[in-house]
Order: sequence, then C-alpha cells, then structure tokens
Amino acid sequence: MISELQQLEKDALAELAGAATEEQILAVKTKYLGRKGLLTGVLRNIALVPDAEKPIFGKRCNEVKEVLNGKIDSALCLQSTRKKEDILLKEKIDVTLPGRGVFCGRIHPIIQVRREICSIFASFGFSVVEGPEVELDYYNFEALNIPQDHPARDMQDTFYIEEDVVLRTHTSPVQIRTMEKMKPPVRILSPGRVYRPDSDISHTPMFHQVEGLLVDRGVTLGDLKGILTAFLRKVFGEKTILRFRPSFFPFTEPSAEVDIRCVMCSGRGCRVCKQSGWLEILGSGMVDPAVFRNVGYDPEIYTGFAFGLGVERIAMLKYGISDIRLFFENDIRFVRQF
Ligand SMILES: [Zn+2]
Repeated sequence: MISELQQLEKDALAELAGAATEEQILAVKTKYLGRKGLLTGVLRNIALVPDAEKPIFGKRCNEVKEVLNGKIDSALCLQSTRKKEDILLKEKIDVTLPGRGVFCGRIHPIIQVRREICSIFASFGFSVVEGPEVELDYYNFEALNIPQDHPARDMQDTFYIEEDVVLRTHTSPVQIRTMEKMKPPVRILSPGRVYRPDSDISHTPMFHQVEGLLVDRGVTLGDLKGILTAFLRKVFGEKTILRFRPSFFPFTEPSAEVDIRCVMCSGRGCRVCKQSGWLEILGSGMVDPAVFRNVGYDPEIYTGFAFGLGVERIAMLKYGISDIRLFFENDIRFVRQF
C-alpha cells in the first residue's frame, strides 16, 4: 500500500509539472484530491492495511495530500501572476510616442472681435442693448431722418419683407427703440447682425455692426473725438494715428468718418489702403436734432453723439484677412487659426 501511495505521489507531481494552464492544474487536483480522486480512493482502502501499519499509512497519506495541495496552490498562484504579466505586456503603452492632438473648439473671430469691442466700451460705461433683426421701416429709416427719396431706401440696398418691414440695414433702430423707452442720460452699445444685398470680397449680404449712442446734457464733438480715439487706440495700439473727415449721414449733424493710419503700410500706401495711407474705420457724428424730436427729447436741452462700425472690417484689419467671405465659409482650417 505504501509503495502504491509513493507511486501515486510521483505521478501526481509529474502531471502537475506538465500542466501548463489553470484548467490543467485544476484537472490534476480533481484527479487526485477530488471526492472520487485517486488519493481519496487509496484512503478509503485503509481498512485493508494491517493494523500495525495503519498509523504510518495514515500519516503518509496526509503528508502526500499536504504536499499535493501545496504544489497545486503555488502552481495556481504562478499561473495568475503570469496571466497578469501577459495582460500588462499586451496592453503596454509606449509613453515615448508623440501624443495625438486634441482640437478644442474656438470662438469665431467675429465673435471674439465683437466681444473685445463691447468690453472696451463697457469700460467707458456703455451697456449693451439688442433689438430685432426684422425691423419696421419706421425704425430702420423714418425715425432716423432718412427721407423717402434717400438712396438707402433704394430696393438695391435693402431686403424688404413687406412694404413697411425690412431686414435691418444697420443697428441704429436699436438707438431709436432705446430712446423711446428711456430718458437721458443714455449710454448704449448695440451690436448685431445687419443685412444688405451686396456680395464681393469686402461685402456679404449679412454682416455685423456695433453702434454706440451717448446722450446727455452738454455732450460735445470733443467727447465724441475723445471716446473714439481712446477706443481705436485700445484696438489698434496706443500709437494709432487718427483723422476725422467731414462726411454726411442723415441722422447726425455734423458727421465725420474716422480713418486710421494704414496698419499694413504705416501710411506709405498699399493695396489694402488703396494707396491712400488711410483706412476708413467708422462713421460718427452729433445726433441730428430731428432724430431727438422723433423720440421726444428736447434738442435744446440734450445733445449726443452716435457712431457705427463694421465688426468684419475691424477683424480683417486686425488679422490681415483679405476676403470677408472667409468668415462665413466655416472652413475649419481658417477658423482654427484664431
Ligand atoms: Zn496701406
């Protein structure tokens, strides 16, 4: 019986050594130590052993069982360590590889410039007011002192929805709507989309304007010059040279266009400034008394100034963009640059 037991131990250890997988190890365990296993079978036959040898036989059986259990446990442990190592090897990350670029969303250059303009005027005490893009003829033209026969009324320059409803051609109607609702002092900025049937490298049927209006007692042309000079120097740099050129707008009197010394050629003359050395930046003027009368302000008590500028124009000059249409094509290679 003892020799049978020794042979059994030898066989079991040999099989265990040959077991390469967890399943094979467990199969060896079942074969020898399971309920119907070989070692269990040998133990059942203890009755056949002579009484004198029983204690030694029993002890030996337990020893074999312990040895097998120990070997099986360490084999299983080794297997699980190998498995983990395999996974680590398979899922290894090469940290020296260059990373893949992640593209973050950007704010559109027009919105960026619009925000910059608004924040500069906010620092001057202006608050932002918005109004409808589909506008009554009255607010877009009539109340702004644009008479029936003015060229701006021409079908060529305005999208008409109905006879007296238009897509606003400027954000000035917001000034009228604001003045109708509040008494001076008024200090507002109205940014927004405006519409005109034009399309070429410097015009699109929809574009963005920012207009400003300041009304109070004793406002002068000097205030207009001071605020616009401070604004343009914040946008284009402290050394920016400006000139105020007399002009005409139906809703301001006197009116002035404001130019800056060309930022591309410093005034020597180039394609952008059409060899003039100057760039037109915005229109401005003292609010026409007729406009004040339309909203019930007494022009003998109050004076004020207004100005308007194109956001695309500022963005084109700031970033050196030659075609306005690039802003609206949404070519990802273009918009990612800002
Ligand atoms: Zn130039």
